[in-house]
Amino acid sequence: MKRRIAILGSTGSIGVQTLDVIRMHSDNFVAEILVAGTNVDLLIRQAREFVPNIVIISDEKKYTLLKEALADLPIKVYAGNDAIAQIVTSDSIDMVLTAMVGFAGLLPTLNAIKAKKAVALANKETLVVAGDLITQAAIAAQVAVIPVDSEHSAIFQCLVGEPENAVEKIYLTASGGPFRGKNIEFLKNVTKHDALKHPNWSMGAKITIDSASMMNKGLEAIEAKWLFGINPEQIDVVVHPQSIVHSAVQFIDGSVKAQIGLPDMKLPIQYALGFPERLYSSMKRFSFFDYPNLTFEKPDFETFKCLKIAFDALNRGGNAACIMNAANEIAVEAFLNDKIRFLEIAYLIEKTIQNTQYLPKPSLNDYIESDSEARRKATQLIKIFNI
Ligand code: NDP
Repeated sequence: MKRRIAILGSTGSIGVQTLDVIRMHSDNFVAEILVAGTNVDLLIRQAREFVPNIVIISDEKKYTLLKEALADLPIKVYAGNDAIAQIVTSDSIDMVLTAMVGFAGLLPTLNAIKAKKAVALANKETLVVAGDLITQAAIAAQVAVIPVDSEHSAIFQCLVGEPENAVEKIYLTASGGPFRGKNIEFLKNVTKHDALKHPNWSMGAKITIDSASMMNKGLEAIEAKWLFGINPEQIDVVVHPQSIVHSAVQFIDGSVKAQIGLPDMKLPIQYALGFPERLYSSMKRFSFFDYPNLTFEKPDFETFKCLKIAFDALNRGGNAACIMNAANEIAVEAFLNDKIRFLEIAYLIEKTIQNTQYLPKPSLNDYIESDSEARRKATQLIKIFNI
């Protein structure tokens, strides 16, 4: 039986690589549902190649174009966010791969879990915003949430076969991004073009900026807390510029297991789609002799304030990370639109957190409200401070 996959965000960096994996493993997987945001041209090309049962575009203005372009094929076409939130419960799928960017991934992921679909989770913001609700729902529905993020996939792979209470610490590795080793003075003048030049990974714009600010590692620390049920004190960030050691787990006997490999997202994607099986891949093999100097450094929490903000939110709990995430999404968008400078990303997030109501035990509605409130506050702050 082929595993039938819904890909949320098929037109993005992870989505396109997921379709590469499905193309390579057409005996194992079938793309049953494709979901995109606005990129109708690529969605049409993907639909014509993979002929899924259903395609959905979030941008309702593109519906007619999509429908007409696929009229000769037996594909159902829908549009809008409600359709996306509903379709993940469809009987025709076994697994949902969530590769939408940002808060938009929350409701579809939650609905998929409630409908007992296995989830391959790339959309880290979902766990950052409402990790408690997602983990509770996964336990209640008895479904697996399998990480796609390379660091979390590494930790997940290290934990397979280990007893639950044997973990002492996890080491979350970080490339350090394009500004590793730089100081505040340098960062004052960097542009979006500098920030978009990631040394090791080719990714979507939002996560690339998050990597440059180190917010990405902060989001990942929060993601790790929820995925692996660990405390903030058990998470150490280690800067590892070569991105070969994808992360490591230290056990209570002092032994450390790490997962290593070339930086290629198709590996963790394929592992998540195939889990618990490990499928063959013809991808390039890692050679120790190509990397005689693997190096490790402490992260710089002073210069990369976003990392500190994220650890503070992780320690505070409640809706703190939800507020931080919303402010970060607004800040990154503003930076990409040349409305704020690089260092103002952290400033805007800090100010938004100070100005948005903290809730210690939020419900789903509270998270949705907090997200909206934080977005409003962050947008106002950009205007008020004229940054
Ligand atoms: P991209 O920006 O490349 O792609 C985002 C995808 O989401 C696109 O298909 C986009 O559609 C779609 N999308 C955006 N908004 C909506 C919406 N409201 N409704 C439906 N679809 C929407 O991002 P990435 O692929 O880089 O990242 C996706 C997620 O995976 C993020 O959460 C990121 O943090 C995480 N991740 C990414 C990694 C990577 O290597 N890229 C590594 C680890 C995690 P369209 O383009 O058509 O508008």
